[in-house]
Amino acid sequence: MGMALIVHGGAGKIEERHLEAHREGTRRAAQIGWQILQRGGSALDAVEAAVIAMEDDPAFDAGIGSFLDREGKVSLDASMMDGRTLDAGAVAGVEHIKNPIVLARRVLESEHTFLIGRGAEEFAREHNITLIDNALLRTPEQIELWEKCRAQPPIREGARYVPVQGFGTVGCVAVDRDGNVAAGTSTGGTKFKRPGRVGDSPLIGAGVYADNTRGGASSTGWGESITRVVLAKHAVDALASGCTPREAACAAIEYLARRVGGTGGIIIADARGRVGFAYNTPRMARAYIIEGMADIVAEI
Ligand code: ASP
Repeated sequence: MGMALIVHGGAGKIEERHLEAHREGTRRAAQIGWQILQRGGSALDAVEAAVIAMEDDPAFDAGIGSFLDREGKVSLDASMMDGRTLDAGAVAGVEHIKNPIVLARRVLESEHTFLIGRGAEEFAREHNITLIDNALLRTPEQIELWEKCRAQPPIREGARYVPVQGFGTVGCVAVDRDGNVAAGTSTGGTKFKRPGRVGDSPLIGAGVYADNTRGGASSTGWGESITRVVLAKHAVDALASGCTPREAACAAIEYLARRVGGTGGIIIADARGRVGFAYNTPRMARAYIIEGMADIVAEI
């Protein structure tokens, strides 16, 4: 038994010039979450804070700096799960929320599990979460990328899977001092996505899962394939059969590839405070620390 925290900043092709920002961004997020755990904070608080740090970091495809959809708008999805109670909260297609993970947490604490679009934003307003202009979520770099995508769309219409793209979804799994597990995921979705398209990230079981009796997981990668195999739940269930987090992560990604030809990555922390990850994309930004480690390891 011990505390643990692992974050990811997306699996895919990460260009050389972005490596440092991804490594440092995930390290900083892990640091913020770990400090909360060390002070005796809850796994939910640690996950929320780590994900906020990455949503606010334009290096990642979450919050500010997310990919734009075909209409040139940012549309965000996020989810969170509490392994103690199995309470879960998710939002999708929100366009005026700076930190969708905060909204997902409010949904988790409510009588609902999943709110979308305008209704989710109305719920945000009722819970004193400020709505912002969509333009504030769009960075010059993403606008430039969008112009290029318009000239040459990255997703072929009708293609069921796109081999490997640049992804940058963020996620975190934490285990606190009391052995409570929590997980969260936040994304701007795929590059130049069809308006209304939602991937795995806000889907409980696919993009996120947490259960104190086993552990928790957060997925990233090609959402349509991850959804079809309910990847996060698949990985957490493997923990129940005695796998280590590393083994469970490898088995889940192997299943994703074998069963539906999918690409992506997953991070896992188990209830004993061990962490593991796996991916079948060229890279996945991640950072982790468990009790007994002197410092955070951040790798790509
Ligand atoms: N899984 C996300 C989606 O399909 C993308 C990502 O992980 O970067 O929306």
